[in-house]
Amino acid sequence: MPSYLASDLTAVERALRLQRGALAAALHERTHQADAPDELAMANYVDSTDDRAEAASMNDNDIAQLQHAAQSLRQVDAALLRLADGNYGLCAACGEPIAAARLLAALSSTLCLACQSKAEQAQQR
Ligand SMILES: [Zn+2]
Repeated sequence: MPSYLASDLTAVERALRLQRGALAAALHERTHQADAPDELAMANYVDSTDDRAEAASMNDNDIAQLQHAAQSLRQVDAALLRLADGNYGLCAACGEPIAAARLLAALSSTLCLACQSKAEQAQQR
């Protein structure tokens, strides 16, 4: 991992766990309002289907928020795994350290700015 992180790892992990707790709580609350038995099952369901009619008790905005929270939760989980592996803060594409400012702005970033730009350009093609 980048050397600038070595002294801050505990803080990073704490921040990631806080984010994770907040996201899980938000998902839990949302899905229980919708009478879903299990927030993860619901999150996976929401994430894996485009059939909005089956989720008739929620509107598109609710679903979009749930999808966003579920995706963020996965990113935070992945970041915690990389932290445990010692790969945290390194670009998943080129292996270079991700800039500190970028990581601080988004703790679960997986790509450096250059690789992120390339990925976005590729998506737009
Ligand atoms: Zn990169």
